[in-house]
Amino acid sequence: MTVLVTGGTGLVGAALSKLIEKEHPYLYREFVFLGNSSKSDLRDANVVARIFEEYNPDVVIHLASRVGGVFDNAAHNLDYLISNTRMNMNVIEACEKYSPQVLIQVLSTCIFSEKCNLPLRSEDMHKDLPHASNIGYAYSKRLLSIASRHLSKTQVISLIPTNIYGENDNFNVDSGHVIPALIHKIYKAKVANEKEFIVHGNPQAMRQFVYAKDFARIILEFVLRPKKSNLNLIISPSQESQVSLYTLVHMISQRIGFKGTIEFDNKIQGQLIKTSDDKECKDYLPENFKFAELSHGLNMVINHFLQKYSCVRN
Ligand code: NAP
Repeated sequence: MTVLVTGGTGLVGAALSKLIEKEHPYLYREFVFLGNSSKSDLRDANVVARIFEEYNPDVVIHLASRVGGVFDNAAHNLDYLISNTRMNMNVIEACEKYSPQVLIQVLSTCIFSEKCNLPLRSEDMHKDLPHASNIGYAYSKRLLSIASRHLSKTQVISLIPTNIYGENDNFNVDSGHVIPALIHKIYKAKVANEKEFIVHGNPQAMRQFVYAKDFARIILEFVLRPKKSNLNLIISPSQESQVSLYTLVHMISQRIGFKGTIEFDNKIQGQLIKTSDDKECKDYLPENFKFAELSHGLNMVINHFLQKYSCVRN
């Protein structure tokens, strides 16, 4: 079996690679992890065709995407739409031509409209407009979902995770997602002995978080135990695990040891709440599968960040 992983150097790709290396080393040589080198820019259809020609994969795990936090999405909606749509359509076209048995692709709960009923359910993913802050990214994912339905010989598993975080995250203070960007900003505030730290968001915004290692385990489950039909599955820990931005910031600042005060200025308004259904994925995961507690995941990620500060993705 050959499993081609696009975006294999990112947050999720690195977690998957590490998981296989550690827990299923016999499988490792069957996986090809692609990064975004000059030779594998998936926005170029010729490059994608060459990669599929070379590996002729049995399974494709499509992770590659331009991914970023709410600030970066809001500032670059057009590029999120164009770059991601190009990559996604090239991969779909190559899947139609080379017919891998399975395509596992990753959408996102960002694609849902604020008007959807809560908890979010995958069947509502195309209803109404996505939130304006990430409309480019959201539509590229909606298009991927629609295009992949038309693949004639490939089974499609669409995983729709809530926010993911982990060790190989992008810790850039401008483009990173909420957890890595906050970790880095609060760390800088601590080092500079700041008396006050201002969070540009709404303290009441609520989110569920998936630890990248858990998400990697879920992806691998779909590779090792193939399912019979096409699936759209929200991947989310329990609704009770949902935390407010207020709580999240305090969990991070306590772990970093920031002693100043914390204020919120509501400057950036992402979607306020997107409670996601945690039941869709349950039937497809082993009975003993448990999502990591956010407190445990944050300990792991923050320890990693502090120990490897000079070489984290940034
Ligand atoms: P990430 O850490 O930003 O990694 C993205 C990967 O895509 C990297 O390997 C990157 O390669 C590659 N890539 C970017 N542009 C590319 C291009 N033009 N050609 C080829 N490769 C390219 O993202 P992630 O968090 O692992 O995300 C994995 C998947 O999960 C994505 O589809 C994302 O939309 C989805 N997702 C993520 C989250 C989250 O919170 N992170 C939530 C929901 C869904 P380089 O590193 O070499 O540039």
